[in-house]
Amino acid sequence: MDVFRTAAELAGLDEWRAKAPLTLVPTMGALHAGHLSLVRSGVEHGPVVVSIFVNPTQFGPHEDLSSYPRDEAKDFAALAELGVKAVYAPQVAEMYGADVSASVEPGSRGIGLCSGDRPGHFSGVLTIVAKLFAQVKPDVAIFGRKDAQQCLVIDQMVAEMKLVVRLIDMPTVRDDDGLALSSRNLYLSATQRRQALCLSRALTAARQAIAGGERGVAELRELISREMASADKVEYIEIRRVPNLEPLTAISREKVLLAVAARIGPARLIDNLVLDFAAGVGCDSHLLGSW
Ligand code: AMP
Repeated sequence: MDVFRTAAELAGLDEWRAKAPLTLVPTMGALHAGHLSLVRSGVEHGPVVVSIFVNPTQFGPHEDLSSYPRDEAKDFAALAELGVKAVYAPQVAEMYGADVSASVEPGSRGIGLCSGDRPGHFSGVLTIVAKLFAQVKPDVAIFGRKDAQQCLVIDQMVAEMKLVVRLIDMPTVRDDDGLALSSRNLYLSATQRRQALCLSRALTAARQAIAGGERGVAELRELISREMASADKVEYIEIRRVPNLEPLTAISREKVLLAVAARIGPARLIDNLVLDFAAGVGCDSHLLGSW
């Protein structure tokens, strides 16, 4: 497995790209089974590059940039074992140079949800994803559905800029008890980890209510809110139409995102469900493309 530290070194990818479509899996490292599921699905389809970069511009001034978990040696070992062709792990100076002036701003899908309590977050995400796309020149990029709004914001950028990259989203990987895997779960004590189960429990309750016929958005938000009462702070509970994230009053024959964010102790956690009612029943659905 090659390890590249600079954009210039990425010329080493040309031979792989000439042979088969090249897939990029962007990450911030501290890899867990969720990240690795994205990587594994890429490796099944051809050569994969994984980027590891803790992107400072997507963190707010009071967020966890300095304490964000980093374990490069462990990440590299896991990726080599999966058959990844190359890792791109640049320093901040390589991605941003001496000053940070040019940026990519999100479109309409970047309004509300996570941008409410993380202003500037999606500008940071899009700026780094655009830089990675320009440098790595992937044919395919894989993202996790866990970051649903991120998927949709990136999709909007790619469509509007007519970038030639195919986007694929993969389902959220969870622990056995339902907690969505996240690098930030490392911040939780055993008690807080139990408390954090309220996010997935609330979504499961909403799914059951929907299966029982509930279609009212106010009713579903109320139900989710009750289930999330044990969170230290609920940041948002949103039920929006996919892909453009318009608010809804009732679910009819459409694809919807049920998304929640909450603070549990030191961690800000998110979780969601993407349900497709086009067929008349809500079933798990993609936000972007599939293989
Ligand atoms: P991050 O390192 O948090 O920036 O995540 C890198 C990629 O892994 C993103 O596309 C995330 O959506 C995805 N990801 C994070 N957690 C999970 C999970 N539990 N299941 C599936 N994908 C995930």
